[in-house]
Amino acid sequence: ADERLLALVGGDLDVPLVGGEWVRYANFDVAASAPALRQVADIVAELLPYYGSVHRGAGFASLVSTEAYTRAREITREFVGAREDDLVVFTRNTTDALNLLAAALPADTTVLTFVGEHHANLLPWRRGDVRHLPVPASPADALEALEAELRALGGRNALVSVTGASNVTGEVWPIEEIARVAHRHGARVALDAAQLAAHRPIDIAAWEVDYVAFSGHKVYAPYGAGVLVGRADWLDVARPYLAGGGAVRAVTADGVEWTTGSARHEAGTPAALGAVAIAAAVGALGETGWERIQTHEQELLERLLTGLDAIAGVRTHELWERGHDRVGVVSFNVADVDPALLAAALSAEHGIGVRDGSFCAHPLMEHFAARDDGCRHAVRASIGVGTSAEDVDRLLSAVEQIARHGARWSYTERSGYVVP
Ligand code: PMP
Repeated sequence: ADERLLALVGGDLDVPLVGGEWVRYANFDVAASAPALRQVADIVAELLPYYGSVHRGAGFASLVSTEAYTRAREITREFVGAREDDLVVFTRNTTDALNLLAAALPADTTVLTFVGEHHANLLPWRRGDVRHLPVPASPADALEALEAELRALGGRNALVSVTGASNVTGEVWPIEEIARVAHRHGARVALDAAQLAAHRPIDIAAWEVDYVAFSGHKVYAPYGAGVLVGRADWLDVARPYLAGGGAVRAVTADGVEWTTGSARHEAGTPAALGAVAIAAAVGALGETGWERIQTHEQELLERLLTGLDAIAGVRTHELWERGHDRVGVVSFNVADVDPALLAAALSAEHGIGVRDGSFCAHPLMEHFAARDDGCRHAVRASIGVGTSAEDVDRLLSAVEQIARHGARWSYTERSGYVVP
């Protein structure tokens, strides 16, 4: 185990088991929300006494908060490798950021997405003209389908919105190639980096990606803040995402002159601490080094996959051939065990947190169900900087036990409610 990485995450958490015993929590649900890093908690705690209104006050606390918020914007800009004139708009989360972009598209824009995307990268676009491409059987298929669809659009205004890494399979999408194809046809590209940002360096300028969105709570900052970074031109003329204070230059009794820049879409008092937490988190990841993070997570991913493959009745879900680049996310089923029961038993009998269900990606799970004959629901285990080899071994041994003997208790609800 890389002790330095484990130390980034706060201390051990003990959780109760159904029998009354307490064990150390093994958190395999970091792809949903990752616990804040120690450094993030420290920086937020340090700033709390200086909590003041951002951009609006002359008092010292306001000046400190404003400065911290402004710096957070610059750190975030650097983190995604944005161009100097890109806007960095703080939002609530990735969903909010993609909704903002969807609301800012010029009226005649057609959006292309693959149908296996997270709902956050499917539903916001449906308010306008959207075309969903089928789940691709390979990365090459994805590029081919995209090329054909863009050709058919004949140069109309288009935006291709794609995930960086799947929240169901962890598979990393060929972002640079997608951007190349899109630009060849004059289309723009948005990247849903919700599952990528904590695991890989992002460089939207080098990749020629026009917009990127991610959430603080998936990069080891607390809930409540996310970000959209990208080209200023559409955003500067779009109707403000929220109407209110801070988004304007001047207001009269019956008129308003909206401002440009990120403030145009950030009306109201911003979640400045959330932005500071994002900056602290990405700063800590950057200092740690991506190679180190990747090595740690890839080793654990290999350990998990090898272990799961060895358990009779376990089937993991991938879109593409094993060996394709992927972050530490694995969805799987155990034959004859309901995924909700499996997840509840892992928690209540073993102190292991996973997610079960269809992961806000219903069309993708439908695709797997049709392709593999039945797995509309699954269990997902995800790996982060705080995951240890011991955690992986505990998960494997628990899955093996449940696969062999079933759950020891029955559960009337997803978690907690137990019938002995
Ligand atoms: N996209 C992907 C790929 C995700 O995994 C998630 C979160 N599960 C989202 C978007 C939405 O993120 P949030 O809930 O923070 O808005």
